[in-house]
Amino acid sequence: MAEALQWTEDRLKKLKTLWEKGLSISQIGEELGVSRNAIAGKVHRLGLPKRQSPISGKSQSKPAAAPKPKVEVAEPENLPLKLALRNINWSRSRCSWPIGDPKTTAFKFCGDEVVVGKPYCNDHCFEAYTTSRDQGGS
Ligand SMILES: [Zn+2]
Repeated sequence: MAEALQWTEDRLKKLKTLWEKGLSISQIGEELGVSRNAIAGKVHRLGLPKRQSPISGKSQSKPAAAPKPKVEVAEPENLPLKLALRNINWSRSRCSWPIGDPKTTAFKFCGDEVVVGKPYCNDHCFEAYTTSRDQGGS
């Protein structure tokens, strides 16, 4: 009187295929036209590998984004005169007559050809010496 279930090769093949596809036991049973219990028993007997449930496949490999070290380079807007002078060291043959307010970014140096032996160009030599003479006020 026992249910005579014929596990034909076709059925076994289909069982394995459906199992690997991830179908549930009851779904496979429906496909094969056999009871859920029969499927469960057969799967157990065949030693089919346990399938990974999609939920347990939670990815734990969340790469931690390495924070990039942020190097803040302080850009001096108001370059001190000393530094400004150092910046023009590239050429001692250029007039270093300051033009504009050293406290502003508009400040620069003349940059013209200097008079030999003098730190300034012709115009600024003239200006420098007349100015100093004026300011001397002796
Ligand atoms: Zn000059």
